[in-house]
Amino acid sequence: MPMTGAAYAATTGENDIMTAVLPPDTHQFKLGACTITVVKDGANVIDNPWETFGSNQTPETVQKLLAQNFLPTDKFVNSYAPAIIDTGSDIIVVDTGFGAAGRPRGLGRFREGLQSVGYKPEQVTVVALTHLHGDHINGLIEEGAAAFPNARYVTGEIEYEFWTDKAREGTPAEAGQKSVFANVVPFVEKMTFLKEGDQIVSGMTAMLAPGHTPGHLVFHLESQGKQLVMTGDVANHYILSLGRPDWEVRFDMDKAQAAKTRNRIFDMIAADRIPFLGFHMPFPAVGFVEKQQLGFHYVPKTYQFDL
Ligand SMILES: [Zn+2]
Repeated sequence: MPMTGAAYAATTGENDIMTAVLPPDTHQFKLGACTITVVKDGANVIDNPWETFGSNQTPETVQKLLAQNFLPTDKFVNSYAPAIIDTGSDIIVVDTGFGAAGRPRGLGRFREGLQSVGYKPEQVTVVALTHLHGDHINGLIEEGAAAFPNARYVTGEIEYEFWTDKAREGTPAEAGQKSVFANVVPFVEKMTFLKEGDQIVSGMTAMLAPGHTPGHLVFHLESQGKQLVMTGDVANHYILSLGRPDWEVRFDMDKAQAAKTRNRIFDMIAADRIPFLGFHMPFPAVGFVEKQQLGFHYVPKTYQFDL
């Protein structure tokens, strides 16, 4: 349970309630023997949705789909949902949020959220990275040291090779490369590089899902017969991306491959009727999809995990 402002102030020694800041939103549910905590690292507002989603469509087409779905047509909210999987023997962090770099914008609150539900950063045994974009990796370092000092790390082999390759210098990927060198490369000695089907811990498997980035992974979790797929950035808007998976997305590095992967992964999730956690879905970022004539309909979770 998230603490109230007063309780939080008491535990942090911030006695002046006027300056105490509420902890970030957190949401917990059970999946078999696992407890999953989703933390809202933050959210921001981005103008002109058609420039990000459906960049190969007319603005009017994108605006029409937004309006049909009761959403504003001139801006959208992007939110960030790193998560903690507590298996009973491992505490696994999946993606880390913006870290300190995001704090001036009210982002980068993942580690604070982890602590607000009673975990200590030292207890984290594994940090699993779906891909190496800043909103997923910048929280690896806190005040110049490892944010999760006792953890081992896993990410995709193709992903790591892509971002650390000298060939990125002088390309649009150079800024991303700098952030990988600053935040990921320092942990290379403690890092395992994953291929399709590799196991992270018992019951948690990596699947290749390229397109958004070249070596993007999704994680398939199974515990006592219950399943969850952590889809990372395979789809990044619950209407524009899931509803129209073929539309081009500005953030997808290989747009055609990303659309192919989006259809493949969500076809599987729809056919198996299993829940997924999508890093940029509206908080708490967990839901289901049903296949429709055009794309997928997103159904946010309600009490499915409580019974
Ligand atoms: Zn992202």
